[in-house]
Amino acid sequence: MELIENFFTDDECNNALKEVDRNQDLWTRCQETHMYILGNSLLRTQKLEHKGKKDYTSLYLSKNIYNFETSEILRKKLSDIFFETKFCKHLSQPGFQIVKRNESERPSVWHYDDIIMSYPFDLDFPDYENNFYEYFEDFYIFTLMLSEGESSFDYFPETDSKYTTDDNIETPICKEHINLVGDCCVNPNCSLKNFQTINYTKGSLLIQKNERMLHRVGNRDIDGQDSFRITITAYGLVKNNIMYIFW
Ligand SMILES: [Zn+2]
Repeated sequence: MELIENFFTDDECNNALKEVDRNQDLWTRCQETHMYILGNSLLRTQKLEHKGKKDYTSLYLSKNIYNFETSEILRKKLSDIFFETKFCKHLSQPGFQIVKRNESERPSVWHYDDIIMSYPFDLDFPDYENNFYEYFEDFYIFTLMLSEGESSFDYFPETDSKYTTDDNIETPICKEHINLVGDCCVNPNCSLKNFQTINYTKGSLLIQKNERMLHRVGNRDIDGQDSFRITITAYGLVKNNIMYIFW
Protein backbone atom coordinates (compact mmCIF):
# COMPACT_ATOMS: atom_id res chain seq x y z
CA MET A 1 0.00 0.00 0.00
CA GLU A 2 1.46 3.31 -1.06
CA LEU A 3 0.17 6.88 -0.97
CA ILE A 4 1.49 9.58 -3.30
CA GLU A 5 0.45 13.01 -2.06
CA ASN A 6 -0.30 15.83 -4.49
CA PHE A 7 -0.45 13.45 -7.45
CA PHE A 8 -3.06 15.82 -8.85
CA THR A 9 -2.63 19.56 -8.32
CA ASP A 10 -5.41 21.57 -6.74
CA ASP A 11 -6.41 22.88 -10.18
CA GLU A 12 -6.51 19.39 -11.65
CA CYS A 13 -8.72 18.22 -8.78
CA ASN A 14 -11.04 21.21 -9.19
CA ASN A 15 -11.36 20.62 -12.92
CA ALA A 16 -12.17 16.96 -12.22
CA LEU A 17 -14.84 18.00 -9.72
CA LYS A 18 -16.33 20.33 -12.34
CA GLU A 19 -16.41 17.46 -14.81
CA VAL A 20 -18.25 15.32 -12.27
CA ASP A 21 -20.65 18.15 -11.52
CA ARG A 22 -21.53 19.02 -15.09
CA ASN A 23 -22.25 15.35 -15.82
CA GLN A 24 -24.66 14.96 -12.92
CA ASP A 25 -27.36 13.69 -15.30
CA LEU A 26 -25.21 10.62 -15.90
CA TRP A 27 -24.64 9.68 -12.25
CA THR A 28 -26.13 6.33 -11.38
CA ARG A 29 -26.86 5.17 -7.89
CA CYS A 30 -25.79 1.79 -6.63
CA GLN A 31 -28.77 0.35 -4.75
CA GLU A 32 -26.50 -1.86 -2.71
CA THR A 33 -24.11 0.75 -1.35
CA HIS A 34 -26.00 4.00 -2.00
CA MET A 35 -22.94 5.51 -3.59
CA TYR A 36 -23.14 7.11 -7.00
CA ILE A 37 -20.90 6.33 -9.91
CA LEU A 38 -20.10 8.29 -13.03
CA GLY A 39 -18.80 6.08 -15.77
CA ASN A 40 -19.10 2.40 -16.51
CA SER A 41 -18.11 -0.06 -13.82
CA LEU A 42 -18.20 -3.84 -14.21
CA LEU A 43 -18.69 -4.22 -10.46
CA ARG A 44 -21.78 -2.01 -10.42
CA THR A 45 -23.17 -3.59 -13.58
CA GLN A 46 -22.83 -6.95 -11.90
CA LYS A 47 -24.39 -5.83 -8.64
CA LEU A 48 -27.19 -3.72 -10.05
CA GLU A 49 -28.43 -5.14 -13.22
CA HIS A 50 -27.65 -8.81 -13.34
CA LYS A 51 -27.53 -9.81 -9.72
CA GLY A 52 -26.70 -13.46 -9.38
CA LYS A 53 -26.41 -14.02 -13.11
CA LYS A 54 -23.18 -14.48 -14.99
CA ASP A 55 -24.13 -12.69 -18.21
CA TYR A 56 -23.60 -9.11 -17.09
CA THR A 57 -20.45 -8.74 -19.19
CA SER A 58 -22.20 -7.96 -22.48
CA LEU A 59 -24.26 -5.28 -20.77
CA TYR A 60 -21.07 -3.76 -19.36
CA LEU A 61 -19.41 -3.80 -22.79
CA SER A 62 -22.44 -2.11 -24.39
CA LYS A 63 -22.17 0.79 -21.94
CA ASN A 64 -18.49 1.47 -22.54
CA ILE A 65 -19.04 4.97 -23.88
CA TYR A 66 -17.28 7.33 -21.50
CA ASN A 67 -14.20 9.45 -22.28
CA PHE A 68 -13.53 11.71 -19.33
CA GLU A 69 -10.88 14.41 -19.47
CA THR A 70 -9.87 13.45 -15.94
CA SER A 71 -9.36 9.87 -17.00
CA GLU A 72 -6.94 10.98 -19.73
CA ILE A 73 -5.01 13.20 -17.28
CA LEU A 74 -4.75 10.25 -14.90
CA ARG A 75 -3.42 8.05 -17.72
CA LYS A 76 -0.79 10.62 -18.69
CA LYS A 77 0.39 11.08 -15.12
CA LEU A 78 0.61 7.36 -14.51
CA SER A 79 2.73 7.15 -17.67
CA ASP A 80 5.07 9.77 -16.20
CA ILE A 81 5.71 7.96 -12.92
CA PHE A 82 5.44 4.27 -13.85
CA PHE A 83 5.87 3.25 -17.46
CA GLU A 84 3.82 3.54 -20.60
CA THR A 85 0.13 3.47 -19.66
CA LYS A 86 -2.71 2.82 -22.10
CA PHE A 87 -6.46 2.44 -21.95
CA CYS A 88 -7.84 -0.95 -22.86
CA LYS A 89 -9.62 -0.90 -26.20
CA HIS A 90 -12.64 -2.89 -25.08
CA LEU A 91 -12.93 -2.21 -21.35
CA SER A 92 -14.22 1.03 -19.90
CA GLN A 93 -11.98 3.88 -18.84
CA PRO A 94 -11.48 4.86 -15.19
CA GLY A 95 -14.58 6.43 -13.63
CA PHE A 96 -15.75 8.27 -10.56
CA GLN A 97 -17.16 7.10 -7.23
CA ILE A 98 -19.27 9.66 -5.44
CA VAL A 99 -20.25 9.14 -1.81
CA LYS A 100 -22.60 11.53 -0.07
CA ARG A 101 -21.26 11.90 3.44
CA ASN A 102 -24.67 12.26 5.04
CA GLU A 103 -26.69 9.75 3.09
CA SER A 104 -26.18 6.43 4.85
CA GLU A 105 -23.43 4.16 6.08
CA ARG A 106 -23.93 1.63 3.34
CA PRO A 107 -21.01 2.82 1.17
CA SER A 108 -18.62 1.69 3.86
CA VAL A 109 -18.77 -2.07 3.20
CA TRP A 110 -15.89 -4.46 3.91
CA HIS A 111 -14.90 -6.16 0.66
CA TYR A 112 -12.18 -7.57 -1.57
CA ASP A 113 -11.62 -6.27 -5.11
CA ASP A 114 -11.91 -9.70 -6.71
CA ILE A 115 -13.78 -8.08 -9.58
CA ILE A 116 -10.36 -7.25 -11.06
CA MET A 117 -10.14 -10.89 -12.24
CA SER A 118 -13.58 -11.04 -13.83
CA TYR A 119 -13.14 -8.90 -16.93
CA PRO A 120 -13.24 -10.32 -20.48
CA PHE A 121 -9.50 -9.72 -20.93
CA ASP A 122 -9.36 -11.90 -24.04
CA LEU A 123 -10.94 -9.00 -25.96
CA ASP A 124 -7.80 -6.92 -25.47
CA PHE A 125 -5.37 -9.81 -25.08
CA PRO A 126 -6.34 -12.55 -27.57
CA ASP A 127 -3.99 -15.11 -26.03
CA TYR A 128 -5.38 -14.64 -22.51
CA GLU A 129 -6.85 -17.88 -21.19
CA ASN A 130 -8.20 -17.07 -17.73
CA ASN A 131 -4.66 -17.42 -16.39
CA PHE A 132 -4.69 -14.08 -14.56
CA TYR A 133 -1.72 -14.64 -12.25
CA GLU A 134 0.49 -16.14 -14.94
CA TYR A 135 -0.49 -13.76 -17.70
CA PHE A 136 -0.07 -10.36 -16.08
CA GLU A 137 3.17 -9.18 -14.50
CA ASP A 138 1.73 -6.80 -11.91
CA PHE A 139 -1.71 -5.73 -10.67
CA TYR A 140 -2.60 -2.25 -9.45
CA ILE A 141 -5.64 -0.58 -7.98
CA PHE A 142 -5.50 3.22 -8.03
CA THR A 143 -7.79 5.50 -6.05
CA LEU A 144 -7.29 9.23 -6.46
CA MET A 145 -9.00 11.54 -3.97
CA LEU A 146 -10.47 14.59 -5.69
CA SER A 147 -12.63 16.20 -3.01
CA GLU A 148 -11.89 18.33 0.05
CA GLY A 149 -12.17 17.22 3.62
CA GLU A 150 -11.07 14.27 5.70
CA SER A 151 -10.93 11.11 3.64
CA SER A 152 -9.70 7.67 4.55
CA PHE A 153 -9.36 4.01 3.65
CA ASP A 154 -9.71 1.24 6.27
CA TYR A 155 -8.04 -2.15 5.82
CA PHE A 156 -6.86 -5.31 7.58
CA PRO A 157 -3.21 -6.01 6.59
CA GLU A 158 -3.46 -9.59 7.90
CA THR A 159 -5.98 -10.46 5.16
CA ASP A 160 -3.38 -10.03 2.39
CA SER A 161 -4.17 -12.85 -0.04
CA LYS A 162 -4.63 -13.73 -3.70
CA TYR A 163 -7.52 -12.54 -5.84
CA THR A 164 -10.05 -15.23 -6.58
CA THR A 165 -13.43 -15.61 -8.21
CA ASP A 166 -13.99 -18.99 -6.58
CA ASP A 167 -16.34 -18.76 -3.59
CA ASN A 168 -15.10 -22.13 -2.37
CA ILE A 169 -11.55 -20.96 -1.78
CA GLU A 170 -10.99 -20.35 1.88
CA THR A 171 -11.20 -16.72 2.89
CA PRO A 172 -8.39 -15.53 5.15
CA ILE A 173 -9.28 -15.02 8.83
CA CYS A 174 -13.03 -14.41 8.60
CA LYS A 175 -15.53 -15.10 5.86
CA GLU A 176 -18.35 -13.33 7.69
CA HIS A 177 -16.46 -10.06 7.43
CA ILE A 178 -17.06 -9.93 3.67
CA ASN A 179 -19.91 -7.51 2.89
CA LEU A 180 -20.09 -6.53 6.54
CA VAL A 181 -21.29 -3.00 7.23
CA GLY A 182 -19.95 -1.63 10.49
CA ASP A 183 -17.71 -3.51 12.92
CA CYS A 184 -20.03 -6.04 14.59
CA CYS A 185 -19.11 -9.37 13.06
CA VAL A 186 -21.45 -12.35 13.62
CA ASN A 187 -18.51 -14.76 13.80
CA PRO A 188 -17.82 -15.32 17.54
CA ASN A 189 -14.25 -16.38 16.73
CA CYS A 190 -13.51 -13.44 14.48
CA SER A 191 -10.05 -12.05 15.12
CA LEU A 192 -10.38 -9.02 12.83
CA LYS A 193 -10.56 -6.32 15.46
CA ASN A 194 -8.06 -3.59 14.76
CA PHE A 195 -8.13 -2.32 11.24
CA GLN A 196 -5.64 0.21 9.97
CA THR A 197 -6.57 3.50 8.35
CA ILE A 198 -4.81 5.47 5.65
CA ASN A 199 -5.75 9.13 5.49
CA TYR A 200 -5.95 10.84 2.16
CA THR A 201 -5.83 14.48 1.28
CA LYS A 202 -7.18 16.09 -1.87
CA GLY A 203 -4.99 15.09 -4.82
CA SER A 204 -3.50 11.99 -3.14
CA LEU A 205 -3.22 8.72 -5.03
CA LEU A 206 -3.60 5.47 -3.10
CA ILE A 207 -1.91 2.51 -4.76
CA GLN A 208 -2.55 -1.14 -3.99
CA LYS A 209 0.05 -3.21 -5.84
CA ASN A 210 -0.05 -7.00 -6.07
CA GLU A 211 -2.02 -7.26 -2.86
CA ARG A 212 -5.59 -8.09 -1.96
CA MET A 213 -6.80 -6.91 1.41
CA LEU A 214 -10.16 -6.63 3.06
CA HIS A 215 -10.97 -2.92 2.99
CA ARG A 216 -13.68 -0.28 2.88
CA VAL A 217 -14.30 3.41 2.29
CA GLY A 218 -13.14 4.93 5.57
CA ASN A 219 -16.04 4.59 7.98
CA ARG A 220 -15.39 7.99 9.50
CA ASP A 221 -15.80 9.62 6.10
CA ILE A 222 -19.57 9.09 6.39
CA ASP A 223 -19.69 11.91 8.88
CA GLY A 224 -23.09 13.50 8.36
CA GLN A 225 -21.86 16.49 6.43
CA ASP A 226 -23.77 17.59 3.36
CA SER A 227 -20.85 17.15 0.97
CA PHE A 228 -19.44 14.57 -1.43
CA ARG A 229 -16.41 12.30 -1.19
CA ILE A 230 -15.31 11.96 -4.82
CA THR A 231 -12.60 9.70 -6.20
CA ILE A 232 -11.54 8.41 -9.58
CA THR A 233 -10.68 4.72 -9.61
CA ALA A 234 -8.67 2.63 -12.04
CA TYR A 235 -7.48 -0.94 -12.20
CA GLY A 236 -4.11 -1.43 -13.86
CA LEU A 237 -2.51 -4.57 -15.25
CA VAL A 238 1.01 -4.80 -16.59
CA LYS A 239 1.85 -6.88 -19.64
CA ASN A 240 5.22 -6.60 -21.43
CA ASN A 241 6.07 -3.45 -19.44
CA ILE A 242 2.96 -1.59 -20.55
CA MET A 243 0.25 -0.81 -18.02
CA TYR A 244 -3.33 -1.13 -19.21
CA ILE A 245 -5.93 0.72 -17.15
CA PHE A 246 -9.68 0.10 -17.01
CA TRP A 247 -12.65 0.11 -14.66
ZN1 LIG B 1 -15.34 -11.28 11.18
